[in-house]
Amino acid sequence: MIVDNSLDEVKKRESALKVIKSIMEKDGRASLYDVTGLSGGFIASEDELNLLETYVGPAIFEDELQIQAKKHLGGEKALAVNRTSSGILASILALVKEGDHVSHFLAQYPAHPSIPRSCNIVKADYDEYINIDEFKIEDNTSLVVITGSTMDHQVIDEDLFIRVIEMAHERDIPVLVDDASGARLRTAVFKQKRACDLGADLVVTSTDKLMPGPRGGLMAGKENLIDQVKIKANQFGLEAQPPLILAMVNGIKNYSEENLIKAISRKDDFYEMLSKDYKLFEKTPTGCMVSENSLKNQLDDLDIETELSDKDLCFLWAMILLREEGIITIPAVGMPGASATIRFDLSTQDVIDMDLDVLYEKIDSSFKKLLDVCKDSKKSKELIFN
Ligand SMILES: *Cc1c(COP(=O)(O)O)cnc(C)c1O
Repeated sequence: MIVDNSLDEVKKRESALKVIKSIMEKDGRASLYDVTGLSGGFIASEDELNLLETYVGPAIFEDELQIQAKKHLGGEKALAVNRTSSGILASILALVKEGDHVSHFLAQYPAHPSIPRSCNIVKADYDEYINIDEFKIEDNTSLVVITGSTMDHQVIDEDLFIRVIEMAHERDIPVLVDDASGARLRTAVFKQKRACDLGADLVVTSTDKLMPGPRGGLMAGKENLIDQVKIKANQFGLEAQPPLILAMVNGIKNYSEENLIKAISRKDDFYEMLSKDYKLFEKTPTGCMVSENSLKNQLDDLDIETELSDKDLCFLWAMILLREEGIITIPAVGMPGASATIRFDLSTQDVIDMDLDVLYEKIDSSFKKLLDVCKDSKKSKELIFN
């Protein structure tokens, strides 16, 4: 294994950021194509930035956040946190004790690692289920988690969503929804209801997924629960700071369902193009993806011999896409534990107007390079870590 643990993942990310910087310096921003589906947007006017210098600004942005968050997520009260992971940790710190149990239902594995990791910190038992017939709530379950849309954009069925909420509420157990991308993907593309409107007690979404906002976590839900989560967030420094809140507010204001739907309208054409020569692509609601498994299978079909693990192959391809073609995908820049699936998301600004033939050429030529490099473990390792 080349990338074997969280430290390796941190190093891999550092190496990818260095490559991005050097492409930036050499060829400029226009030579980078971010297809992560994460926008990292920071919309702010000069006046708003000036206000940040005093405590007047935070008072105003905090109030505006309550208004905008309620429009976006519903619920009684909102809370801005540093990341979605921070919101999940704060919720589990607030609602789950040592010896308790957490049940998690999602459309497909893998779940975001922040959920089991947070349970681990409070020494709670944790189970996750993708089959409703197996889904169980234990006597000591104190929190039920539902993932609205997974890291790979697998979206939960709305009827199952409602059923899990009902099962939890029959036993007075609160439900937290990890709707990182789901708050927009489920509602805009799948026409589902907002988590709070389906009865969820707490929801957290990522303000840089499928909307023009910064990386941050936005929570909403029942006022008494949000208050409990807020205490933990403040105690452990997990809350969002005023500059982040400002950009979150403007991100929500600039988000529209129509724009999201328009941005991803070319995904079927893109899939057709890729499928002419390749079997490894799958459609996602926002573009196409290659999973660890399908990449491995394609290499096997081509009789390519490699010592690399399935995950390493994804990391290597992501790094070649970045170095050779300027294409930024999550396996290159993702945080430890992020999915190794290579997703080509058509919703981000860099590719909204990009000629799909050009994007195809880039993917095609990087794949050919992957076939060559993956036979050589030493060279693969150098490419991943610099
Ligand atoms: C992205 C994502 C997260 C984590 O978001 P961070 O901003 O990295 O904390 C959690 N859950 C799901 C389903 C996600 O897609």
